[in-house]
Amino acid sequence: MKKILVAEDTESNYLLLSIILRKEYEVCRAHDGQEAVEKFEEYQPDMILMDIKMPVMDGLEATRQIRRKGGRLPIIALTANAYDSDRDKAFKAGCDDYMAKPIMAPVLHEMIKKHFSE
Ligand SMILES: [Mg+2]
Repeated sequence: MKKILVAEDTESNYLLLSIILRKEYEVCRAHDGQEAVEKFEEYQPDMILMDIKMPVMDGLEATRQIRRKGGRLPIIALTANAYDSDRDKAFKAGCDDYMAKPIMAPVLHEMIKKHFSE
């Protein structure tokens, strides 16, 4: 079973994502960007779903650090905003894809499968 690290500070958002993912994937959580970097190293996930707005360290900085450490896994940014500027920032930080909340289960599943098949 592939492992997905979900970096998400908001409890209800994490619960929703874990329900969407847990039948097909092993799910691990980070509560902020710093923890996302630590869990990336400890847990060696196959993919990260990265909330952008998080305390301690945001998802953009966490993504930059993971890329600097050599992480080549797919990282999908999750954000409350659908603005082009946010999308650009996510791609510049090293994210492979971008999804605006609210997260729709079928769309997320499709995006995950697409990145696992690339
Ligand atoms: Mg957040």
